[in-house]
Amino acid sequence: MSATVLPGHPQVARSAGTLHVEGCSLAALAREHGTPLFVYSRQWMLDALAAYQRGFAGRDAMVCYAMKANSSLGVLRVFAEAGCGFDIVSGGELARALAVGAEPSRIIFSGVGKSRAEMRQALAAGIGCFNVESEAEIDVLNEVALAEGRRAPISIRINPNVDPKTHPYISTGLKGNKFGVAHDRAVATYRHAAGLPGLEVVGIDCHIGSQITEAAPYLDALERVLDLVEAIEAAGIPLRHLDFGGGLGIDYSSPNDRQSPPAADALWRQLLARIDARGFGDRKLVIEPGRSLVGNAGVCVTEVLYTKPGEDKNFCIVDAAMNDLPRPAMYQAFHAIVPVAGEGEPAPVVYDVVGPVCESGDWIGRDRALAVQPGDLLAVLSAGAYCMSMASNYNTRGRAAEVLVSGEQARLIRQRESVEDQLRSERA
Ligand SMILES: *Cc1c(COP(=O)(O)O)cnc(C)c1O
Repeated sequence: MSATVLPGHPQVARSAGTLHVEGCSLAALAREHGTPLFVYSRQWMLDALAAYQRGFAGRDAMVCYAMKANSSLGVLRVFAEAGCGFDIVSGGELARALAVGAEPSRIIFSGVGKSRAEMRQALAAGIGCFNVESEAEIDVLNEVALAEGRRAPISIRINPNVDPKTHPYISTGLKGNKFGVAHDRAVATYRHAAGLPGLEVVGIDCHIGSQITEAAPYLDALERVLDLVEAIEAAGIPLRHLDFGGGLGIDYSSPNDRQSPPAADALWRQLLARIDARGFGDRKLVIEPGRSLVGNAGVCVTEVLYTKPGEDKNFCIVDAAMNDLPRPAMYQAFHAIVPVAGEGEPAPVVYDVVGPVCESGDWIGRDRALAVQPGDLLAVLSAGAYCMSMASNYNTRGRAAEVLVSGEQARLIRQRESVEDQLRSERA
């Protein structure tokens, strides 16, 4: 049986007339579990992680998977078993990481708005580092740690003011963003934190944005962070680790906007050369990749409900919607959409692929030439990151089921959410 890999999507192959993820037929999985259905390739995740591990071979480095990209337990377990740490942004994510057996010292806690309760929860768990983002948060964390009789290990997130050249909603390292402490305030903020008895300064971090597709913004941020490391250490505050965040993009195979982000190992070869050249080569390094570890591992299988010819546009109405796949509605993002059974009858028609939700923003793909009829299955590609983790119950739609594939084995890692699940916590 010969398999044809889809260009740009090595995790999805067409064989015996249907799309497969690894050795599993998407048509068979949809028959068994219904649609919409997320299907993830375990091997793709491990390969993506291996690219970072190759990049850091021989170094003291920790890869912390930024689990907000996809926080399903079955996905987290793959990374926990592969020795990953985790970057969390809430107490809920901490509970998820601990539930899959994550080593607490390999958990770092990011985010601009940690509550006191979340701080206590993370201190009790013994996490490795709080990435703090403001002077006000520093003071509150100090207070909470003292009240708990602990010292909180911290790193301060610096806003390096570089443009990651990505969508404005996912750039985070510019002056106008809510994230981090301004570059100019960094040394003063470190001095303040170092004087507080409830805190132990252990590192520095930055994270400049998401879906970054070139090395240049990373190189700019790197130089600016290393300048600060020199200034902070000159002020007598040693830093044990340097954390460069996440943000590396993936190829979504958009025909109009072909993105070819550097491979993780190639990117880090470049960055490490600069780190070595500036004399920080033996420092512990931390990174927080999210999308690049899961984005192209996942597809969402959806069924065509209706085709609807229109005056200006033809619509292909599918059973997945913006509550399952929020990226197009939120960021005008592109996902490739391909028929599971291949191109056949009828002749292709140009459609807007849309969901059943009552919003004009509920579209999944625009102007797609597809040969489909009701009952056919479509695969929405590159759906491993920021889809299920952002899914909602809008329109009282239950969240989709998820399957993790490994070779010819497929395991249901999340049951389809029922209406009863949704009504359970409410009172009329
Ligand atoms: C979201 C986020 C990440 C991961 O970003 P990706 O683009 O998914 O790699 C890493 N660090 C922080 C602080 C984040 O907020």
